[in-house]
Amino acid sequence: MKSLFLILNTKRPMKKIFLLLFLFSSLEQFSQGLKICASYEVIKEQDRMHPGYKAMVDANFTAVKSMADANRGSRAVNAADTIYHIPVVVHVVRLATEDNIPDSLIYSQIEVLNRDFNHRNDDSIQTRNAFKPLMGRLNFDFFLATTDPLGNPSTGIIRKLGAPAISLFGFNAFSDNVKDPVEGDAPWPTDKYLNVWVCNLNTIPLGLLGYAYPPTGAANWDAGSYIDSAQQGVVIDYTAFGRNNPYIIDPGIAPGRTAVHEFGHYFGLRHIWADEAACVEDDGISDTPTQGDQTNFDCDTSKNSCTDIGTDYPDMIENYMDYSNEFCQNMFTKEQADIMFYNLQMLRPNLAQKTVVYGVGIADEKVSFKGISVYPTLTKDLVYLDLNFDGEKNIHYSITDQMGRSMKSEEISQVKSKVEKIDVSSFPSGIYIINISDNKHLFHQKMVKN
Ligand SMILES: [Zn+2]
Repeated sequence: MKSLFLILNTKRPMKKIFLLLFLFSSLEQFSQGLKICASYEVIKEQDRMHPGYKAMVDANFTAVKSMADANRGSRAVNAADTIYHIPVVVHVVRLATEDNIPDSLIYSQIEVLNRDFNHRNDDSIQTRNAFKPLMGRLNFDFFLATTDPLGNPSTGIIRKLGAPAISLFGFNAFSDNVKDPVEGDAPWPTDKYLNVWVCNLNTIPLGLLGYAYPPTGAANWDAGSYIDSAQQGVVIDYTAFGRNNPYIIDPGIAPGRTAVHEFGHYFGLRHIWADEAACVEDDGISDTPTQGDQTNFDCDTSKNSCTDIGTDYPDMIENYMDYSNEFCQNMFTKEQADIMFYNLQMLRPNLAQKTVVYGVGIADEKVSFKGISVYPTLTKDLVYLDLNFDGEKNIHYSITDQMGRSMKSEEISQVKSKVEKIDVSSFPSGIYIINISDNKHLFHQKMVKN
């Protein structure tokens, strides 16, 4: 077993080393030794303070799963034709200098999330053949919020000096103090923004890289009882945020997939080994194999900790909801994708803005999103981009064929209002995707060239 707390980062203040002695008692809260994620422990802690909380989380999961099961098969079509644009606000709450992570790491994290959730990761070729048919994807487009809750322009990044009451311990997952307006930074409305806090969670002694709150707020949760809306979101240690973070405590997290894992929790997924009762407790997902324990940063493809009913699969170390080495992680399953999709629909209904990528064969269809309209969607020769913004923007568009090959691309600089004419007469007949980006949003439109 790899002991994370023995890998001491010399850039940390030396006084922290002495805290190790005190923190061993805290570690008893973690049932299986060192953890990289405290999401399950946070649920149990909430349940201790607010009895019934865990039952509510489980009931939500069951309701969402029923919806996913009832729509299996039909959803794949819908999801492929709709992009869900999800605004993310990143609260960088620093206590020192190194935890004030640069914008570049934040941008790289958004890229990783979009790549992995949409299953555009090149390393999916490493997925073992037995699991390839199970690979799932979502059309989620995470973007840094462009407006704040008052409607003012925003970079989607907030920087603040934190002041936790017990500062020697950094921020604490159980008191969740990074979301406190005085000790940390208060969330933006959690129904409309995906709030992410990046801070010092004392990873070195605790081995804790992050935690997230599952979707809640269903009808079965009594009005007037404890509401966790001010806590909804994802918290990640600054050493684990972004790709190739210079402060990582283990090379196995260099790909930046701690956030992919935590976003999975945020959209209602459990750990693949289901946290308790090895091989008995299940994660509720039928296309993930049963697994006895977390993989503990391994990449061991020979591991098969539980016997599955029917086909006996090995442990799915490829799954983002394991604790395997992130270089071996490369997939969510189809059913995990379904669960996340229906959690977004049912329990986070105000979070995403949708663009519908329909219009195949509908000649006069005009599809608009944030000042960008595209028409017609069925054409022989010309497609029009109708651009209308409040201020000037730089637009990039590309047209790709069904194999993802670029047929045409262009920058349109400093445009406020313009109709751009695109000649596609030389394209072979077929289906194409027009991708339009203003560097904050990505808009896809399907087009048929006949
Ligand atoms: Zn987790």
